[in-house]
Amino acid sequence: MRRFGDRVLRPNERRIDSEGRIPDEVLRGMADLGLLAMPVSTDFGGLGASSVLTELAAEEIGRGDFSMATAVFFLLEAGWGFILDRHGTPEAKREILPEVCAGRAFLGIATTEPTGGSDLARLRTTSTRSAEGFTVRGEKAFLSGVEEAQRLGGGHLTLTRATEGGFRFLYVPTRGPGRTTQRFSNMGRMGISTGAIHYDDAPVPSRYLLGADGRGFEVAMEGFTVARTFVSAACIGAAERALETGMAYLKQREVFGQPLGKFEAIQFELVDLWTQVEAIKWQCRRAAWLTDRYLRSGSATQRSEVQRTVAAVKLTRPATRLRVR
Ligand SMILES: Cc1cc2nc3c(=O)[nH]c(=O)nc-3n(C[C@H](O)[C@H](O)[C@H](O)COP(=O)(O)OP(=O)(O)OC[C@H]3O[C@@H](n4cnc5c(N)ncnc54)[C@H](O)[C@@H]3O)c2cc1C
Repeated sequence: MRRFGDRVLRPNERRIDSEGRIPDEVLRGMADLGLLAMPVSTDFGGLGASSVLTELAAEEIGRGDFSMATAVFFLLEAGWGFILDRHGTPEAKREILPEVCAGRAFLGIATTEPTGGSDLARLRTTSTRSAEGFTVRGEKAFLSGVEEAQRLGGGHLTLTRATEGGFRFLYVPTRGPGRTTQRFSNMGRMGISTGAIHYDDAPVPSRYLLGADGRGFEVAMEGFTVARTFVSAACIGAAERALETGMAYLKQREVFGQPLGKFEAIQFELVDLWTQVEAIKWQCRRAAWLTDRYLRSGSATQRSEVQRTVAAVKLTRPATRLRVR
């Protein structure tokens, strides 16, 4: 993984950001290593990887591509591929998962709407039973991978309010009638698109339902529990690289007749940062282990995710400052 990050991701990271997409050869390389949707079972083209192994891979990808685009692509497919494998119908799994694992289709998550993303119990996009399955109506916004799903094929696991009661979690392919997509022009993390999908009675076959009809909210929340561990791991990988980059600079840059790193004030700060990175890394591993062991132990995973993500952002700040001339 470290070699893949150094040889393939690092040389491409600026290009990923400036061209606004992950090059096909990078995705092919990930597919060849079995990294795409790696927790998916071997029956459907994955490695059947544990959360611990997936978390280690996320760390290396976050470290390899500092733009974070590849890490987001990786963790979406890992987390939501796992959920489709656990809760999808056999037909849907046979049809979708091998394509995702081979890098021939994108799989993302669509919960956020223009009116908000935290309070999902109040979402407005609806699904209604029809002769062939369901029709979806409404809009999802700030979705990662809208353009990738158009270009490669694939779609998003989409949380909807069932007009008959409860919530429905559906795989909605991005291509098809009744869908309109839009790419947002935002700043940062340019290598994977952010956008919206508008559904105007978009037909979705019944085989694309995940879990029990009306119980989609629980399935989606289970997915967030799994995906959060991978988000944290990618952040800590990036934080570790920022620290290493800062350290290399401190050894090389001389002021007042000695390298910057010889000054005690800077050494103290670095030791604090390293200690935090190490502590958070092991917390990540524990959360991944807990996910493997008790999938539903959401509270431990969620609590540590908030701590780790906030800490990873804080950790990159001084490391970046130490490096910036
Ligand atoms: C780059 C990017 C990619 C994304 N990718 C996806 C994706 O692939 N799929 C997807 O579905 N969504 C995606 N999102 C959306 C993301 O999940 C939402 O931004 C997030 O859920 C928060 O929703 P919101 O932005 O609507 O904020 P809101 O829900 O409107 O919240 C506004 C603010 O209030 C705070 N807040 C909310 N509730 C409380 C509370 N109870 N107490 C205190 N403070 C609170 C929030 O922390 C936030 O700061 C993406 C967002 C970004 C920026």
